[in-house]
Amino acid sequence: MKKPFINFIFFLLLIFNCRLYASANGDTTGIIPYSKYINDNMPQHIQEFKEFVSIPSLSSLPANKKEVERCAEWLKEKLQAKGLLNAQVLATDGHPVVFAEWNKAKGKPTVLIYGHYDVQPVQEAMWNSLPFVPKEENGRIYGRGASDDKGGVVVAIWAIEAMLKKDGSLPVNIKFLFEGEEEIGSPHFTQFVTTHKDLLKADYAYSVDAFQKSDTEPEMVMSVRGAATMEFTLKTANRDLHSGVFGGKLPNAAQILSQLVATLHDADGKVAVEGFYDTVQPMTAEEKAMAAHAPYDEQKELQEYGATLFSGEKGYTSVERVWYRPTLDVTGMWSGYTAEEGFLNIVPGSAHCRIMCRLVANQQSDEIITQIKKHIATHLPEGVTITYKDLGGFANDAAKFSTSTDAFKAAFSVLTKLYGKEPLLMGTGGSNAAVGIMMKQLNLPMYSFGFLQEDENYHSHNEFMRISDLKKGQYAFCMLLKYIGEKK
Ligand SMILES: [Zn+2]
Repeated sequence: MKKPFINFIFFLLLIFNCRLYASANGDTTGIIPYSKYINDNMPQHIQEFKEFVSIPSLSSLPANKKEVERCAEWLKEKLQAKGLLNAQVLATDGHPVVFAEWNKAKGKPTVLIYGHYDVQPVQEAMWNSLPFVPKEENGRIYGRGASDDKGGVVVAIWAIEAMLKKDGSLPVNIKFLFEGEEEIGSPHFTQFVTTHKDLLKADYAYSVDAFQKSDTEPEMVMSVRGAATMEFTLKTANRDLHSGVFGGKLPNAAQILSQLVATLHDADGKVAVEGFYDTVQPMTAEEKAMAAHAPYDEQKELQEYGATLFSGEKGYTSVERVWYRPTLDVTGMWSGYTAEEGFLNIVPGSAHCRIMCRLVANQQSDEIITQIKKHIATHLPEGVTITYKDLGGFANDAAKFSTSTDAFKAAFSVLTKLYGKEPLLMGTGGSNAAVGIMMKQLNLPMYSFGFLQEDENYHSHNEFMRISDLKKGQYAFCMLLKYIGEKK
């Protein structure tokens, strides 16, 4: 055969091989220049990941304070070694925040990536292997924090490493923000964000503390609820008193508490506290459609929890109530005596109650607490005193994200391309402190862009992360940053 022809055959083979290689690695997305680096470096990255997971950065245990700090230092050094600039461990009144940036993409937007390096406590006896001795098995890495959120943190860093190694530069400016108190409700994050507003300025923001629906289905979270909690005690006497002597003569604290709690909702399941809904934004048509498309089986859920019906605010579906409507729930009431104590013939002199509200944008937790206190004051009968107990923390702000921002469009488009289908747009009934804080303090919507999966036992024993997702996450971030860089 003539040489040009042989060359041509070789060329065809090369293209064919590239395509095979690309599809074998799930890359049909035009990021082949990075795929090789990503794949070649997986063994070394897995070692690095194991090192990260082996640090017991348990934010809730005072005894582990030094380990949390060691983890922050480890992360800072990694960021530096990967070529990020200005890497630092920034002190707060609690555990530190790790920051690093890459700011040489002149005229390009800045993308902030948020995650957390602290982890949940462990019940070691329940684990099949030691939670801080990471173990690789069946394509998974087991260890506390592997999924939530150390896996999320590393994929973003490795993606940037791949781009810097390959191109010597990034298509956008980057800011990494890794928190050390997410698992304890981010008690110092508001203070941190408000004192570092300039440092955190960004055009786009994404949280890697986020999920995909499954291997083959992407998802994006479009709203999180906020939260407000309170506890109070009603007193009608300085002790419990004999019911034969005082029954019918003195007010009964348990009964008064029941009557009071009954005034908190009306017959339609609406919260009856004045002003409670004043700042609530009504659902948009788009949000209604999202809720209608939620992959959710009411009957299955009723069965699983042994319930017979759903109830709540009239005029809304179950999904709408959880995603878009605020709630007020009594989470605990105690007074008098318990059955284990035998029989006590008493008129309770005190009664206690805990309330938790789930809030939606733009409700403010402190305002809601004030409104409830006012409601209680106007409904409290004579002869009762009330005292409130500060429960500390657990006051999160809600946030709701638009589908018309560039940040949304970039993530939506990249996920669609990567999975070959559009992401599910989901609300969540739960709270995410950092997301709410970034929205409130910086007016910066932090979209979810993560690859964790529901079955990974985060917050439970035998937590794991899939190695395939550690790879997929890197592809996704390379694509995202390229997309944003090319857009402007
Ligand atoms: Zn998390």
